[in-house]
Parts: sequence; C-alpha cells; structure tokens
Amino acid sequence: MTIVQNLQHILAQIKQCDATQAVRLLAVSKTKPVSDILQAYQAGQCAFGENYVQEGVDKINWFASQNIHLEWHLIGPLQSNKTKLVAEHFDWVQTLDRIKIAERLNAQRPAQRAALNVLIQVNISNEESKSGIQPEQLAVLAAQIVQLPRLRLRGLMAIPQANADITQQKETFEKMTALFNQLQKRYPEQPIDTLSMGMSDDMQMAIQCGSTMVRVGSAIFGLRN
Ligand SMILES: *Cc1c(COP(=O)(O)O)cnc(C)c1O
Repeated sequence: MTIVQNLQHILAQIKQCDATQAVRLLAVSKTKPVSDILQAYQAGQCAFGENYVQEGVDKINWFASQNIHLEWHLIGPLQSNKTKLVAEHFDWVQTLDRIKIAERLNAQRPAQRAALNVLIQVNISNEESKSGIQPEQLAVLAAQIVQLPRLRLRGLMAIPQANADITQQKETFEKMTALFNQLQKRYPEQPIDTLSMGMSDDMQMAIQCGSTMVRVGSAIFGLRN
C-alpha cells in the first residue's frame, strides 16, 4: 500500500464512524522524510504532527522554502530551552502542561504570526512515564493560559495507556470527553473545539467517544524504525 492509499483508507474509516462531531486527521510524520510528507500533501493532507522540535523545524523550513504552507503541530514533550524555536515555527502545541512553558511561548510568539494554538495535555491514565497534568489541575492551568494573548486555547490532548483492554480504553476516552465538555462550558467565549485523542490502533473507539482530532502515524506512513 502506498501513502496515498493508506491516507484514503484512514479517511474512509473516519467517515464510517459516522460521528456527529467533525473529526480532523493529523498525519504524524515523525522520523519520516519530507518526500513522504510531500506525497500526503499532494493527496490533500494539510496538518502534520512532529515529536522532536529540531526535526520538525527542519521540515517546516524545507516546506516554506518550497512555498508550501502546511499546518504543523508539536505533539512531543517541550523543554523550556526549545520554546523559542517552537513559538517561531509551529502552528499548534498539543503538549502544554506547565504554565512556565506557556508563558515562554506567549512571550516568544512573533508579532507577525497569528496566536499559537495550544492544547493542554492530560495524563489521563495517570502513568508515571507520561507527561501531562492530572485532571484536577486542569481548571487552574486553563485559567492561566486564557490570560495569555499570544496563545489560543483550543482544547485538550491525551495519550492513553497503551495495551489497555477495550473497556478501559472506552472509559479513558469518555473521561477526556467529560473534561473537554466542562472546559467548553467554562469558556464559552474561547474557540475550544479540539479534543485530540486516538491513534492508529484506537482511532475508531476515540471517535465514537467524542474525539475531534485523531493523530495517525504508522497507518499512513508505515512502521517507524
Ligand atoms: C507517534 C505518535 C502518534 C502516532 O502513533 P501511531 O501509532 O504511529 O499512529 C500519535 N500521537 C503521539 C503523541 C505520538 O507520539
């Protein structure tokens, strides 16, 4: 199967879910070359996710040099020494979990660019190895982020525990949807429209539970080394 066929297959699967909410596809291109991204772009895919800042910036610069404007999402952890690069190059940060990082991104977002879209990452399966805030911390962090004029809070992101059984998966996704609904209700004046959850293996379940953005890598680009 080619990248284009894989992409069409995933889009068909999303459609089949027959969700009441709109669902966007984020193509996760980490470790993959620009030639792969170009194929996906030529098939109509515009939003791409990268995990590593420098790798992402290199790809963003390459596409800019070709005059191709894609939407770039940082989906990996962000350390404070990399915030400037991210503020200058990316369109979205999906892994915000500390006010200090939010403040740096806010200060470093170039004036000529639109506000940086951000999602708060929630450590919904409460795994020690994962970044993200605890659900109880959401209200405070969200209240701080909406004060920052160069950031635009768009919603929440989660990476649930891998290899959970179907029942656990569903419960976890439903917990995220409940948090997302609360956030929307709390900030009706903010453009909170994005609940990023679901990957290659659990995409359909995530959509059934309310996801508005699935992040799919290997099912589009093939396995990573
Ligand atoms: C790698 C990655 C994905 C994509 O995973 P696949 O299993 O390849 O679809 C999605 N989200 C995050 C945060 C990732 O790091």
